[in-house]
Amino acid sequence: MAKKINFLSDLTGSFSTPCSENPTVRMIEAAYQNEGMNARFITCEVGPETLSHAINGAIAMGWKGFSCSLPNKQEVIQYLDDLDTSAQVIGAVNCVVIKEGKLTGYNTDGKGFIEALCDITSVKGKHITLLGAGGAARAIAVEAALAGAKHITLVNRNQERGEALVKLIEENTKAKASFVKWTKHVSIESETEILVNATSIGLNDAQAIPDIDMDSLHKEMIIADVIPNPPETKLLREAAKKGCTTLNGLNMLVNQGAQNIYNWFGKKVDREPMKASLKEIFEAK
Ligand code: NDP
Repeated sequence: MAKKINFLSDLTGSFSTPCSENPTVRMIEAAYQNEGMNARFITCEVGPETLSHAINGAIAMGWKGFSCSLPNKQEVIQYLDDLDTSAQVIGAVNCVVIKEGKLTGYNTDGKGFIEALCDITSVKGKHITLLGAGGAARAIAVEAALAGAKHITLVNRNQERGEALVKLIEENTKAKASFVKWTKHVSIESETEILVNATSIGLNDAQAIPDIDMDSLHKEMIIADVIPNPPETKLLREAAKKGCTTLNGLNMLVNQGAQNIYNWFGKKVDREPMKASLKEIFEAK
């Protein structure tokens, strides 16, 4: 007997704006195809004004869930029934699971970074310095602190935002945290074991580099960047010249995507096709 074909795919997608340059759909569908899953991912241009309608639509159409990018990561929380622990502390959600009409929010940005870092070292007991105090820094700082980092130093231009993140870490985790105001050629504290650029400096610009004193880096430091494109940022290239171990933002992006798929389907997918799809897009640009 001929095998029955199921023409009804499991649906997932993303709600953000602007989104026409967001390559997530290719990365996620590369995983679905590689795993032989009858699932689709749809990129949807949705801002805060229409977010509740989009969510109701997703529920009505039986979507497995959706990812949220800017500017909806905080906005979406009011529509959720439940929040994962770290999403609650971070105060932002990038992945929502729909199960029996109930919505649960997760934050996999920081988890994706920690997972990538674990290929090199454990965060347990480490002194981590973060450049930036925006959404990416917040997610990484909270996950690192929850995973056992000893101290987190936040270096940021905007003092209020930096100090708010220090308070958040100290009130919600066992890690210590401190703030350093980002001044010209800011020096990186010598106790730093892992330095992370969690600013947008370097995105789509291979020559941009955070304004830090490069002489304050030493070769025992691990230097990481959240920027996925170009993956080898100027910061990482210069740090590698000094003998530092480096980590680019591509695996963070792939890991958070794979964790979203796991949240939606309970399936661990091969990440290589996801990574290859992004590399192809970034190299073609
Ligand atoms: P936000 O806008 O929330 O925060 C940006 C941060 O960068 C702020 O702390 C801001 O400082 C700082 N910043 C920007 N420009 C400068 C500058 N010239 N000098 C010093 N500081 C600067 O953005 P996100 O945190 O959401 O995103 C940051 C980057 O992370 C993006 O490029 C994004 O692509 C990347 N990202 C990567 C992910 C991945 O999976 N690889 C996942 C999520 C994000 P201030 O507060 O002083 O304004």
